[in-house]
Amino acid sequence: MLRARLRYSITSALTSSLLVFATPAVLAEAVSSKADATALLVADLAEDENVEDVEHSEPRRGSAQARAQAETTSEQSSPQESPVEAPEAASKPREIAPNIDLKEVAPLPEPEPEPEASDSGDSAAQPEPQAETQSGTADAVGSNTPASPDDVAEKEPEPAAPVPAESFTLLGKEILPGTATRLAWSPGIQIAGLSQITPVLVVNGVNQGPTLCLTGAVHGDELNGIEIVRRSMYDLNPEKLSGRVIGVPIVNLTGFQQGSRYLPDRRDLNRHFPGTPDGTLADRVAYSLFNNVIRHCDMLVDIHTGSLKRTNLPQLRADMNNPDVAEFTRGFDRMAVVHSSGSPGMLRTAATEAGIRTVTLEAGESLRIQEHQIEAGVNSLNSLMEKHGMISRMFVWGDPEPVYYDSTWIRAQHGGILFSEIKLGATVSEGEVLGYVADPITNEQHPIRASSDGRVIGMAVDQVVMAGFAAYHIGTEAQVPGE
Ligand SMILES: [Zn+2]
Repeated sequence: MLRARLRYSITSALTSSLLVFATPAVLAEAVSSKADATALLVADLAEDENVEDVEHSEPRRGSAQARAQAETTSEQSSPQESPVEAPEAASKPREIAPNIDLKEVAPLPEPEPEPEASDSGDSAAQPEPQAETQSGTADAVGSNTPASPDDVAEKEPEPAAPVPAESFTLLGKEILPGTATRLAWSPGIQIAGLSQITPVLVVNGVNQGPTLCLTGAVHGDELNGIEIVRRSMYDLNPEKLSGRVIGVPIVNLTGFQQGSRYLPDRRDLNRHFPGTPDGTLADRVAYSLFNNVIRHCDMLVDIHTGSLKRTNLPQLRADMNNPDVAEFTRGFDRMAVVHSSGSPGMLRTAATEAGIRTVTLEAGESLRIQEHQIEAGVNSLNSLMEKHGMISRMFVWGDPEPVYYDSTWIRAQHGGILFSEIKLGATVSEGEVLGYVADPITNEQHPIRASSDGRVIGMAVDQVVMAGFAAYHIGTEAQVPGE
């Protein structure tokens, strides 16, 4: 069973990553000496804080949306009882309901499915009946085009009678309504005979609704997202689902197998979307995923963790200047939302530009499986699906609504060993000592202080750092235009 296998491979990846864990944190850090003398950079954060991407942020534009949200956010509780605290773990049994069975693999698509340029060009890949096809109400034709406007109704899921779904075609395969299957995506970059496929899980609900996509391990060493996708998808029942969920638990499969964040060419896949068909390896992988899978999504949650021994509170990164995205963030229960317009090449940026409502979900640190972070992620995805009328579970929403943050990175000014005095999630005041860097040779101690009041939404774990290392990520509740 997939579940068992996943569990196995995660374990083995962890083991192997211990062996391979020569990840050049230092190397990457060395590049990041952009820090100016003030040491405080306002970070319009890039996912994973590839630190060289930390840049100055422009203040958010006030949009009607933002204002509307602000009204609800403004009366929020203080950060210490913020939404990110543990969702009560025990409310749900630990067992992941095996409502769907994804052990059958659809055969590989024809060599490289033509990118979705022409909708009708499916002639090569004839849809084969899926193994799980229960009672085949073969309503065969409904191949939905990427991001087609036929799902616009999802914004307000009307409580009226659900409309039966149609089958749809992904990666050259037809998926009937009310069924789940497992498809194979191959970016076609390997030696053909050794080509390795990347599993794509699909649950096509019995009723119409939006298409939600979940991507994990775009950085191969970020494991929490893999588990978040697994739990979210295996808990779905296609007979009760309105819409579709497409999950790619491990996008960067080669990185995953090597415990590496990067692609085999040492490039960061999350800087190459939407990709090009004739560019670098990363461009091609990005292009293939984007056109064969991502363009079919109405909504996308790209799941990441902190990088380079940094950890994050569960949080969304979202471009709050985009009204559709801003509204989208309201569907996630108990999540802090950090405004970030995103860097070019990010999956989030490219998908948003393609009209797909997209956020990045950050949860914990790389190379670890963290139960608390995973639960928070699964909880928020369940709330999202409930909010969009995809599932109905009597979901109990957490008390505080999302808190919106602008954020700032605080960097180490000296090389040495970082010791933190505060914990992730702590509420801090301007000037407060967050930690210090100790010089192991001279015994000098260099305190690192908070640049403003706020909450520690991300931080480095104790480690050796060099000057310029982004050590603490401070979220300040967003000032609301017009308030
Ligand atoms: Zn990442």
